[in-house]
Amino acid sequence: MNLIFLGAPGAGKGTLATLLSREYGIPQISTGDLFRAAVKEGSELGNKVKGIMEKGELVPDSLTVELVRQRLAKADAGGGYILDGFPRTIVQADALAGFEQIDHVINFEIDDQLVIRRLSGRRVCRSCGAIYHVDNMPPKVEGKCDRCGGELYIRDDDKIDSIKNRLRVYKEQTEPLIAYYRDKGLLREIDSSRSPQHSLEQIKGILE
Ligand SMILES: [Zn+2]
Repeated sequence: MNLIFLGAPGAGKGTLATLLSREYGIPQISTGDLFRAAVKEGSELGNKVKGIMEKGELVPDSLTVELVRQRLAKADAGGGYILDGFPRTIVQADALAGFEQIDHVINFEIDDQLVIRRLSGRRVCRSCGAIYHVDNMPPKVEGKCDRCGGELYIRDDDKIDSIKNRLRVYKEQTEPLIAYYRDKGLLREIDSSRSPQHSLEQIKGILE
């Protein structure tokens, strides 16, 4: 079962990819993880990625696609996989279609206001990295980590301006993939505005 999870930042793709990966025993593959793993391995591609990231530049499509291609060729992806946050552009999607057959593209539907509320409410512990949320998982004492007493802060990525910018980039570059996969008959839509459990039930309904 070869799956793509599509949706705005904050739509819950990562959380659901983890849940589904456990339930079906297929790997969750994100480009962020692939970049980090390649850099750590020190492979030829990894060194290229490292150089690009150190300059603060975006990893080009060709390199991203090659890392994904190599990852999908590994044995554990033979029984299926979940691509979480890839492809991000039409160019990447076209390249992927050249070497993989996708079964379902799950589109996580959610409105912008809810994404902003979800992401801007996130708080991270400066000392141990524990993650909280002002609505869903507040710490016992405001601004303090339950586990270690460390100070909680808002990551730069989770500040309102940054969230709005990420949403804008998503709409420009990635949202066109909805029509792209709809045309191919692969798009399946879920309502991801409620709980992860609710999203999981919908996805299982599609797959089973
Ligand atoms: Zn902590």
